[in-house]
Amino acid sequence: MKTIQQYLDSGAIDIAPLLSLVLNKSNVELITQNEYQLTPTEQQTLDAFIQQRIDGMPFSYISGNKGFYHLDFKVTPDTLIPRPETELLIDIALDLFPKNQTCKLLDMGTGSGIIAVTLADKNPHWAVTGTDFSSAAIEIAQQNATTDINFAQGSWFDAVPNQTFDLIISNPPYIEQGDAYLNDLTHEPITALTAGKDGLDDIRIIIDQAPDYLNKNGFLLLEHGHNQQLIIVELLSKNFINIQTFKDYNSNDRAVLAQLKQTT
Ligand code: GLN
Repeated sequence: MKTIQQYLDSGAIDIAPLLSLVLNKSNVELITQNEYQLTPTEQQTLDAFIQQRIDGMPFSYISGNKGFYHLDFKVTPDTLIPRPETELLIDIALDLFPKNQTCKLLDMGTGSGIIAVTLADKNPHWAVTGTDFSSAAIEIAQQNATTDINFAQGSWFDAVPNQTFDLIISNPPYIEQGDAYLNDLTHEPITALTAGKDGLDDIRIIIDQAPDYLNKNGFLLLEHGHNQQLIIVELLSKNFINIQTFKDYNSNDRAVLAQLKQTT
């Protein structure tokens, strides 16, 4: 039988969090109880998890959850794992409306629901809708909701026919097809990652159709790839004003906010 210390010494990837997960012990307990001998069942479970990590399975799919903003989210291979840079969209959205003002919000391609659920949790008086093409993702998002959120299945605006919103947010797929970076992401849903040759196919659809689904003076807020900001600003300039660009916490261009131009 092996001890906690022997596993810690093995140098296996993510060994401390994996031990914590299997033994239900904190980091401090792993150290203070380092001579604890794992039971055969614990050892079997841990060895299987270590092998999954070696095979490239992300830790969050093994643990089944990932923290985002102030909440913890259930994630499965049907949903993208939340990225820290997406928290930028939450900060921008929270700054947009005075505290007591209500907002009709649409989060398109909600995945595990991080944007819709986090903003609804922070603003229980907002009317929040989350959509996704994947019904499996919608099911996970529903389980993650802490408030009453309206979830709908469908591709982009097909999910919300004849509805209009004060704020539309999306973290759509935006990686270029064939990008070498995708080789590191083989366990995540490819449909949540890539969007055509230049990665802009879905962003183009969203920018094109958003005016029909926005209320007067409504906002569109998008996450995008680090090299896509210029072209997105250009695409927005046809129907939007007050275009603001944002960098993420790694200083990469990462988001744009724009307000619907008034038609007279
Ligand atoms: N942000 C993702 C990544 O870095 C890319 C796709 C997305 O979030 N829309 O892997």
